[in-house]
Amino acid sequence: MKTNHNHDILVIGAGLSGLRVAIELTDRYDVAVLTKVHPLRSHSVAAQGGINASLSPEDSWESHAFDTVKGSDYLADQDVVELMAKGAPSAVIENEQWGTAFSRTEDGSIAQRPFGGAAYPRTCYAADRTGHNLLHTTFEQALRKGVKFYHEWFVTSLVKTEDRVCGVTALEIATGEIHGFTAKAVVLATGGFGRIYGHSTNALINTGDGAAIALRAGVPLKDMEFVQFHPTTLVPSSILITEGARGEGGYLFNSEGKRFMDKYAPKDMELAPRDIVARAIQTEINEGRGFGSNYVHLDLRHLGKEKIMERLPGIREISMFFAGVDPIDEPIPVRPGQHYSMGGIHCNKNGATLLDGLFTVGETACMSVHGANRLGGNSLLETLVFGRFVGQKVGEYAADAEDFDECTVDDAAFAMREKIQSILLRESGESHAELKEEMGRIMDNEVGVFREQETLESALKAIRFLKERYENIALPRCDTQFNYSLVRALELENLLHLAEVITMTALMRRESRGAHWRTDYGSRDDENFLKHSLVSMVEDFLKTEYIDVNLGMFEVKERKY
Ligand SMILES: Cc1cc2nc3c(=O)[nH]c(=O)nc-3n(C[C@H](O)[C@H](O)[C@H](O)COP(=O)(O)OP(=O)(O)OC[C@H]3O[C@@H](n4cnc5c(N)ncnc54)[C@H](O)[C@@H]3O)c2cc1C
Repeated sequence: MKTNHNHDILVIGAGLSGLRVAIELTDRYDVAVLTKVHPLRSHSVAAQGGINASLSPEDSWESHAFDTVKGSDYLADQDVVELMAKGAPSAVIENEQWGTAFSRTEDGSIAQRPFGGAAYPRTCYAADRTGHNLLHTTFEQALRKGVKFYHEWFVTSLVKTEDRVCGVTALEIATGEIHGFTAKAVVLATGGFGRIYGHSTNALINTGDGAAIALRAGVPLKDMEFVQFHPTTLVPSSILITEGARGEGGYLFNSEGKRFMDKYAPKDMELAPRDIVARAIQTEINEGRGFGSNYVHLDLRHLGKEKIMERLPGIREISMFFAGVDPIDEPIPVRPGQHYSMGGIHCNKNGATLLDGLFTVGETACMSVHGANRLGGNSLLETLVFGRFVGQKVGEYAADAEDFDECTVDDAAFAMREKIQSILLRESGESHAELKEEMGRIMDNEVGVFREQETLESALKAIRFLKERYENIALPRCDTQFNYSLVRALELENLLHLAEVITMTALMRRESRGAHWRTDYGSRDDENFLKHSLVSMVEDFLKTEYIDVNLGMFEVKERKY
C-alpha cells in the first residue's frame, strides 16, 4: 500500500481557518487537507455567540480596532488588528453570500448584538449557533471547489530539511499505518489547546497538536501564558453559556442576590471584557458569595420566553439537558472555565513562521490580534479574515518554492513508526487517562484565573513529573486499527508539552495583564512586560525570550470599563 503522498500544499486542520485557506488555494494548487476528525466535527462548529464586523454606518473599523487593542490590554500587534478590523465586513458578507443564515433585523439586515468590551453592537450571529452555520457553509464551498480531504488522519510530526519544512508524517487512524507527505508548504490550522485544563468549554479534540509539533520542530510559541477563562460555563459540565446571553441582557447575581458587576466594571457591568468578568465571578466565589461551593447565577428570566426562544434556543437546551434548569423559569448556574488560547505558534501577519515554508492560522497561531485578552466574536473573525489572507500568501510562496525529494519524509515516517511501536509493545505502565486527569486538576487549581509564584512553581514541578511518567505509558489495546487510545496518548504528549510552556511563561511574567493575573504582582508593568514572550525548544531544552509589541495608532493607556 502507498504510504507516501505528494501535494503542493498541506493544510492541517479542517476548522474554519483550515477550510478557508484551502478554498483560497485549490484553484491553483494541488492542496490536501488532513484532519483528525470529520471537518464538521471541528471545534468551530461549537461557536455560539457570533462574529464581529463593523457593518453599520455608525460603526467603523477604527472603533473595532480600538476596542480590540484595549481589550488585549495593549499587547496585540496593532498592524495585525488593523488588518482584521478592515477585513471584517467583507469576510462576513462573503459568508452570507455563500449561504450562512444570519439572524436578521426587521428590515432584513444582518442582526448584530452587543458583546463584551465593544463600543457598538457589532457581533453578527445566527441565533446562538453561529459556528455551526459558518462551518457548514464554508465546508460546502470547500466541497464545491473539490478540496481533497484526508479524514481521520492524525498528523504526528513536521518533517524538515536544514532550513525548510518539507512535509509531515501522519497516522491513518483506520489502519494504524504511518504515512509520509511531501509538500512545498504546510499550513498548521489545528485549533486551540483547552484540554490541558480539566474545566474547559473546548471539544475533547482540542489538544494543541499543531502547536506542540511546531515546538518540537524548533518553531517558537508566543504569549502562551495568556489563556482565556470564559466567565460563564455551565455547572457542572463546563459547557459554554455564550456571552450572547449577557449581550441579550442577562444579569449575574451572587448568593446575596446582588448584581455584583457594579463593583468591578461600573460602566459596562456584565458586558465588560471576559478577563474582568471571569475575575469578578471567581472573586465572588472565593470570598464566599457563591452558591454551593462554586458558582453564581446568570439570570435571563427578565428577557422573556419569546426572546430566549428566538435568540438563545441552544443555551436553553444546553441548560435544560445538562443542568436541569429552564432559563425561562430559573437562573443558570455558571462559573469561569478555560475557553480560548490567546497564545500559539509565533508567526507574522502573513501567517509565516520562522521555519521557511511553514505557515499557521486560526486559534493555533499567535498572530497577535488578541494580545492578553481576546474579545468575544473576534476569533471566528480571525479564522475567516486570515484564512483568506494567509491562503493568498501561501500561494505566493508556493509559486516560487522547489519540490522535495522523498528521503527526508521516508526517514521521518520510519522514526515515527518506531516510536509508535515502542508505545504499543509496552505491556504495563502508566495510564494516559489518569495522567491527563491529573494534568487538568493541576492546571485548573494552580494555573487558573488567579496565579502566584508559589503555586506556579509547584505546578511546573508537577507537570514535569507527569512528563517523566508519560515516558512509561502503556495502552489498554495494542492493535492498530482505530486504536483511539493510541491517539489519546499521542495527544497527551502534546498537551503536556504545552502545559509546561504555559506554566513557565506564567511564572516568568511578573505582572498582571489581561487574562494573566498574578496575585503577587497585581498591576500591569509596561516598562518590563509590554512584550511578547517566546519559547522555543532547542534540543530538549526550552529557551525563553521576549520580543517587542507592534504599537501603532492607539496609545497605551490604563484599561477601565
Ligand atoms: C464552545 C465554544 C464557543 C465559541 N464561540 C465563539 C463565538 O461565538 N465567537 C468567536 O469568535 N469565537 C468563538 N469560539 C472560538 C472559535 O470558535 C475558535 O477559536 C475557532 O473556531 C477555531 O477555529 P480553527 O479553525 O482555528 O480550529 P478548529 O475549528 O478547532 O479546528 C481544528 C482542526 O484541526 C484538526 N486537527 C487538530 N489536530 C490535528 C492533528 N494532529 N492532525 C490532523 N488534524 C488535526 C481538527 O481535526 C480540526 O479539523 C468558541 C469556542 C468554543 C470552544
